[in-house]
Amino acid sequence: MLSDIDMMQDTMIRRGLMLVLSSPSGAGKSTICRHLLDSDRNLQLSVSATTRTKRGSEIDGVHYQFTSERQFHAMRDRGDLLEWAEVHSNFYGTPRDPVEEALSKGQDVLFDIDWQGTLQLKKAARKDVVSIFILPPSIAELRSRLVRRAEDAEDVIARRLENARIEISHWDEYDYVIINDDLEKAFGAVSAIVEAERHKRERVIGARAFVDGMLK
Ligand code: 5GP
Repeated sequence: MLSDIDMMQDTMIRRGLMLVLSSPSGAGKSTICRHLLDSDRNLQLSVSATTRTKRGSEIDGVHYQFTSERQFHAMRDRGDLLEWAEVHSNFYGTPRDPVEEALSKGQDVLFDIDWQGTLQLKKAARKDVVSIFILPPSIAELRSRLVRRAEDAEDVIARRLENARIEISHWDEYDYVIINDDLEKAFGAVSAIVEAERHKRERVIGARAFVDGMLK
């Protein structure tokens, strides 16, 4: 038999939220995303399509859907991408169907996308988007993280640093900003934001009916 609390949970179904994390490469965003996905079963990653070359540690279909430029443009022209952008001379985009399916089930979706994509998502679905910008403690620290990661060639690192300055200049278009000088603290802050946003009144679809029933 259902308890009162079970019934309350049933009526209080939420709209899924679109959690966007942006930062320049090397600010620790991927690690934070991984921790979030490991610790939160209601969160699912939006796997982007990209024309970038696969890095050694990456798995096709898990980290990205690696595509040719021709395939990417075909997806875009069919309207299969929720948003897309050119970053570091490669194309990146968010496949629409998996996101819509997850949101319709009340599942939250995590997007690791840049400022251009965030702007497009906000235009398309402003109420569902919660955006967080992760800042590195300094440009010097960012550079040493990129060098330590050693997954990219020297000229690629230089290009990524140049792009980092552009990405950082968009920090004030986001709902929240976090400086990642301590990974545990930054992760704690992101988790707290997610938890609070899940309780936003307008997101809890059945709240009014629940309260009306309670006050009858
Ligand atoms: P990376 O090549 O280091 O994996 O990603 C480079 C940049 O592209 C990162 O800032 C990442 O957030 C962004 N990015 C990854 N996927 C997408 C996407 O689907 N759309 C947009 N707009 N940016 C993306």
